[in-house]
Amino acid sequence: MPAAVEFRSVRSTEEAVASLSEHGSDACVIAGGTDVMMQYARHELSPAVFVHIEGIKELTNAQRDGSLRLGALVTHRHLADDPVIRTGHPALAEAAATVGGWQTQGVGTLGGNLCNASPAADTAPPLLVADATVELCGPRGIRRVPLEEFFLGRRHVDRRPEELLTGVEAAPLGPRQAEVYLKVGRRGGMVVAVAGLAARLSFDEQGVIAAARLAVCSVGPTPLRVRPAEEALLGLCPSGRMTDDGYTALEEAIAALSGAVSPIDDVRSSAAYRRAVLPRLLRRSVEVCRAAVRAGISQDDLS
Ligand SMILES: Cc1cc2nc3c(=O)[nH]c(=O)nc-3n(C[C@H](O)[C@H](O)[C@H](O)COP(=O)(O)OP(=O)(O)OC[C@H]3O[C@@H](n4cnc5c(N)ncnc54)[C@H](O)[C@@H]3O)c2cc1C
Repeated sequence: MPAAVEFRSVRSTEEAVASLSEHGSDACVIAGGTDVMMQYARHELSPAVFVHIEGIKELTNAQRDGSLRLGALVTHRHLADDPVIRTGHPALAEAAATVGGWQTQGVGTLGGNLCNASPAADTAPPLLVADATVELCGPRGIRRVPLEEFFLGRRHVDRRPEELLTGVEAAPLGPRQAEVYLKVGRRGGMVVAVAGLAARLSFDEQGVIAAARLAVCSVGPTPLRVRPAEEALLGLCPSGRMTDDGYTALEEAIAALSGAVSPIDDVRSSAAYRRAVLPRLLRRSVEVCRAAVRAGISQDDLS
């Protein structure tokens, strides 16, 4: 028989931090439980205490005041449906809408998706291109960590045992910017990513890429921002017919992207297939962002 586990439901951040401080690494936070329950059933976890945080109301809100602030308990369904998020962070809304099915989206949380630190976490690439920062609350106060530094390895994040992830802050789309999240899976829906790519691109008045942020998931041990590929995209002429220079820039970006990732063979895909789809995702992301800015679907026009 497995050892008895205490299940402690808390109602405030302070109560959660007190419980985590009391039990340290013997405690396991449980939010929606969509990852934790599977891992517990597979005997990958054996905590003494589950600290159940779903009842902390203050962590369920999404607020926009310049930047976007998302409580850790905001669900995928909330991310997918909220008009403010769909406008200012369309890639995040698109990503959340692809997480599992309706049941998973209804209870699975943003904080859980990030803290679970799966290489395939769908919300990570859109938040990486939005320069997101995570907020961690511990007994000594608040600590803020850029999301890019939060992922340390597969299932390993920069969170101390006594800390609770309380929220995420992200920069919304700016003028002449567009973004997209593209996901490849074995089926059309309810499926973990074989590869995912988020792009946030800025275009100048001539339609040349003036700034680029790219991030990927499921092609390495952690979700990853791909700065060399971003630099290579700068100056890419986004007109329908690529100039020689533009074509070269895109090819350089594809090569830089390929050099930055380290995919593996697993049950969902071969490493070779993952490598093969990345160039298509990058090309497609440029086309989608270019079309969105041309059509005026950028933050400056919507606000
Ligand atoms: C059928 C199914 C399909 C899925 N499909 C996808 C998919 O397509 N894409 C995808 O990315 N994921 C997918 N998932 C994984 C999962 O649903 C998400 O990762 C979800 O966001 C996890 O949130 P949760 O609230 O359920 O986390 P939990 O299971 O409660 O927790 C996950 C981890 O985070 C920790 N944790 C949770 N909240 C906090 C916090 N606030 N502070 C500190 N630590 C915390 C927990 O201790 C645990 O280690 C799927 C899961 C299932 C069961």
